[in-house]
Amino acid sequence: MSDIKKLKKEYKNVWESYTEQDTRTLFAYGERYRQFISKNKTERECVRSMIAIAEKSGYQNIETLIEEQAELKPGDKVYANYNDKTLVLFCMGQKPITEGMNLLGAHLDSPRLDLKPNPLYEDTDLAMLKTHYYGGVKKYQWVTLPLAIHGVVAKKDGTVVNLSIGEDPMDPVVGISDLLIHLASEQMQKKVTEAIKGEDLNICLGSMPLKGEEKDKVKANILHLLYEKYGIIEEDFVSAEIEIVPAGPARDYGLDRSMIIGYGQDDRVCAYASFEAQLEVENPERTTATILVDKEEIGSVGASGMHSRFFENMVAEVMELCGCYSSINLRRTMARSKMLSSDVTAGHDPNYASVLEKNNAAYFGKGVVFMKYTGARGKSGSNEANAEYVAQLRRIMEDNNVTWQTAELGRIDLGGGGTIAYILAEYGMDVIDCGVPVHSMHAPWEVTSKADLYEMRKAYIAFLQNA
Ligand code: MN
Ligand code: MN
Repeated sequence: MSDIKKLKKEYKNVWESYTEQDTRTLFAYGERYRQFISKNKTERECVRSMIAIAEKSGYQNIETLIEEQAELKPGDKVYANYNDKTLVLFCMGQKPITEGMNLLGAHLDSPRLDLKPNPLYEDTDLAMLKTHYYGGVKKYQWVTLPLAIHGVVAKKDGTVVNLSIGEDPMDPVVGISDLLIHLASEQMQKKVTEAIKGEDLNICLGSMPLKGEEKDKVKANILHLLYEKYGIIEEDFVSAEIEIVPAGPARDYGLDRSMIIGYGQDDRVCAYASFEAQLEVENPERTTATILVDKEEIGSVGASGMHSRFFENMVAEVMELCGCYSSINLRRTMARSKMLSSDVTAGHDPNYASVLEKNNAAYFGKGVVFMKYTGARGKSGSNEANAEYVAQLRRIMEDNNVTWQTAELGRIDLGGGGTIAYILAEYGMDVIDCGVPVHSMHAPWEVTSKADLYEMRKAYIAFLQNA
């Protein structure tokens, strides 16, 4: 009988295998992560906080090294920052970089409501803001929530004002109203996609008139407040990036505190674990790098998205600092690299079990998820990892006692999704999608399992050291 057991693969709940020490380490990690996503709700906030932490652990800005014409040696740590939106960290390996790198990648942007360039208006003595949602959102989820205002306002004189309003418990919050049920009979007949429309997602900002004004007195009062506190005038909204996000911290979820509910876990849950793993692995054999990008939620486009040349250019700069740059060496380095492209996947949810195929679904508490391919309807748009590469990862995970599971994003004909994996695969490197299961993905508050976060972090460290 025991021989048959060896032939079968059972995906077990990892909680039962934890020692007291494991549980302590796991909860400590969960708490660091919970605090990170509570404090950092935009890509810019994430990049700035991560740079501050990385510098303390010995990472140097590549711009400084280029200026000094420094020479990179094994063990040296470098970071490159693109406009506070994309961050790449390198730790130089004992082996030459031309033998390839071990890469972690994730994205820092999350679905939210952005302000339109000309957002402020007054209607019936209320000051309002027009928004344009970013990424895939179910619009009805964003009404009747306390919302916070995060972002930057770049002024004509070259100064930049940072905004974060609504996070301190004493701060005011803003929000979007919904129609009262008593008058909603027409709305309730509509399709969910039409019950709340994009142009209905208008933020209520204030209701108090400025004394002595003739017209738009409430808007005038808000402009007065903004000018007094931040030195901002109405035209400054044109050169601003202001994101409206759920207000308040991430919280422990479940009476047993085994989960976390928080905003922006897609994909900061993977980005933060990648970042910690990158910092923890010192003096690696192969050069390690972690790529944290922007704009994944809208197709990885633009200068700060994965499609930009930023990462490739930074690898070229690093190679130049190692004294080994040439076009052919750069291409070889990329092709010989291996990558875990991390993004969240749909967690099996008893409330919505029908959208998944239960033998190929990701479950809370069963560890980090490897997805050989993503895509939709006939694997369209997916990057499929090579079988031999998947086998190597199985070996690394087993040797390092990492609990993993495997999944597809959903039932074959239902839908699907993409990540940044296929973009890096274009260099000819080995890339696989991995991540953790999430409940309520893309909702203002998403849920993850602390056990999966812990196994993911372990998986990243094992990968950076052994791939
Ligand atoms: Mn994602
Ligand atoms: Mn997403």
